[in-house]
Amino acid sequence: MIEQPQSRRRSWAEPFKIKMVELLKTTTIDDRRRAIRDAGYNTFLLRSEDVYIDLLTDSGVSAMSDRQWAGMMVGDEAYAGSANFYHLEEAVRTNYGYRYTVPTHQGRGAEHIVSRLLIKPGDYVPGNMYFTTTRLHQELAGGTFVDVVIDEAHDPQHEHPFKGNVDFAKLDALVERVGAERIPYVSVATCVNMAGGQPISLANLRELRSWCDRHDVLIVHDMTRVAENAWFIKQREAGYAERSVASIVNEICSLTDAATMSAKKDALVNIGGFLAMNDEALYQRACGLIVVYEGLHTYGGLAGRDMEAMAIGIRESVDDDHIRARIGQVEYLGEQLTRAGVPIVRPIGGHAVFLDARRILPHVPQEQFPAQALAAALYVDSGVRSMERGAVSAGRNAATGENYMPKLELVRLTIPRRVYTQAHMDVVAESVIDVCASASSIKGLRFTYEPENLRFFLGRFEEAAPQGAHAKVAGSV
Ligand SMILES: *Cc1c(COP(=O)(O)O)cnc(C)c1O
Repeated sequence: MIEQPQSRRRSWAEPFKIKMVELLKTTTIDDRRRAIRDAGYNTFLLRSEDVYIDLLTDSGVSAMSDRQWAGMMVGDEAYAGSANFYHLEEAVRTNYGYRYTVPTHQGRGAEHIVSRLLIKPGDYVPGNMYFTTTRLHQELAGGTFVDVVIDEAHDPQHEHPFKGNVDFAKLDALVERVGAERIPYVSVATCVNMAGGQPISLANLRELRSWCDRHDVLIVHDMTRVAENAWFIKQREAGYAERSVASIVNEICSLTDAATMSAKKDALVNIGGFLAMNDEALYQRACGLIVVYEGLHTYGGLAGRDMEAMAIGIRESVDDDHIRARIGQVEYLGEQLTRAGVPIVRPIGGHAVFLDARRILPHVPQEQFPAQALAAALYVDSGVRSMERGAVSAGRNAATGENYMPKLELVRLTIPRRVYTQAHMDVVAESVIDVCASASSIKGLRFTYEPENLRFFLGRFEEAAPQGAHAKVAGSV
């Protein structure tokens, strides 16, 4: 590979070349206007073939390497004891350090099992911000999630280098309130998704380790984006500049007791995940649940070929050159938008750039879902598909029926790994800048169909009358 001192002076350019391409359909602006209307102004309801650049998510949409594809051909599809399981177990041990691995169909399968194993009804589970599926499984097991991330994580403009850090005053307050014996574990995510892909520092994690040892509490690591977190530690934390991403990943994992992995993110596969841990007794109990909910403990709902691709993807994911290019591309897009004056969440995260829709569409009140409207307008302009993370995603309070009005009203541009080129990023930036320039013509939206749960997936909308006109109609009724 490229030598370190040289590569520092060079760009983040990709450490791969392209061997196979997927052709994309060209659409006109009239096609896209029709498509978004048919989709009820919800980018989740667009057909993928009508999308030019798909930045809906980074989950399961990575491009696999030739080695991973070759691995798919040596799938050992035995029901029990597949060779690929042992390759996966070995990859987890070598790269992450966890002694025992149980494959699962994806991340939430592992979250389900670990929540049932460790949480008793009435327990509290502190975490550095919630994630949708993680919190739901904690709640289904009878636990209550408590947010203990530092306050800076909730401020889109704050430049804190480690917005994923845990606030120990919040942890102490929880122990004071409920007692440490009601806290089975702290749920720690690396490169916190809901904060915008923001890292936790090793100093903070080390302090958490000693806090947990003092209180006899475990640490369960949501390691979905651990390699991206390690890259930020290498860049930002004193003493780590000369360390490899692989060795930092190992050090992070060594400070935790168990881990859940959605391999559809960092680990470069289209499907798969696992639960890993060091304690043998816990492993045996996990195997007991896996056979009920996922499959035998040596396949966990996956084909042998999927486990092989995952084992290879894990190794590729902790390579310095890979991560440099991956995060370099996200930063390339984010910096272009910042230079053009587009308001985005800072610092730029590991897997996505978040547009601040509240500031881009000040004329659209939050009740008319500015982020949803902005995502639809961006699609119409250029065929770029993004996702709303604001009032629509936040839903309603189950007790009062009131809409939650979150502080953050964002559009997420999520970058798949190894899929798009620098020119694609230029198209995205140009389109965002154009849409912002004519933002005053973008209308707010209102629901025409609102599902009861997770309404952002299937909800449908139409354009709403501007606020002034709306008020007049309302007043005349
Ligand atoms: C995607 C994700 C999960 C859930 O994983 P799935 O593979 O989608 O089930 C859990 N935690 C984080 C941080 C994630 O991003």
